[in-house]
Amino acid sequence: MGTAEERREELKAVWQQARSCTKCPQLAAARQTVVFGSGNADADLMFVGEAPGANEDRQGLPFVGQAGRLLETLLEEIGLTRADVFIANVLKCRPPGNRDPLPQEIDACQDYLFRQLELIEPRVVCTLGNFSTKLLRGDPATGITRLHGREEIRQIGPRRVRLYPIYHPAAALYTPKMLDTLRADFGRLPELLALDPPDQPEPEPELVVPEPEIVEEVEREPEAAQLGLF
Ligand code: SF4
Repeated sequence: MGTAEERREELKAVWQQARSCTKCPQLAAARQTVVFGSGNADADLMFVGEAPGANEDRQGLPFVGQAGRLLETLLEEIGLTRADVFIANVLKCRPPGNRDPLPQEIDACQDYLFRQLELIEPRVVCTLGNFSTKLLRGDPATGITRLHGREEIRQIGPRRVRLYPIYHPAAALYTPKMLDTLRADFGRLPELLALDPPDQPEPEPELVVPEPEIVEEVEREPEAAQLGLF
């Protein structure tokens, strides 16, 4: 849909909309900034985390704390930088005290994420942890422990992407075994990015409004016309 420039402009419009969003009154009242996401607006690889933390809320950027530094290290290990990818979260505002996002907050915010996915057009979407994995797979019952490191093709909105769930980097900060798993899962990203993009569904056919049919006027028989038979 549209050129990269057009999609970028549209993404900016969605950002403007999110910046003043107050759909979650508690989050809107407590936040310092709306953390929309950052990176390459035409990226092949998009990461989706959970929600901003205190550092992100202050700086207005996702993944800038310790978990963000780990994410950058893992990216470097596969030859990428933040500038190559786009990073966003399920929620754009920080939940107070870093509590879990509430279902109604996820519902309220998800349209921003779906628009981001539609406009950035990534080939591979890497969900970090349970919240984004459950939301983008549309399956709240299956968690990251069962799904991490296993890619699948999923239709999200109008596009098909390779969805690749992995653990959230925050989960690996203090657990060396988890870090090994995360690093191994991360290591498969170049292979997934090298695959052909998923086939896209046929675009919805445009609604064709038929030309009005021109019917020759027929001379009515006087009796029938009076009885309303034509
Ligand atoms: S979390 Fe999302 S929906 Fe809720 S106020 Fe922030 S931007 Fe709006």
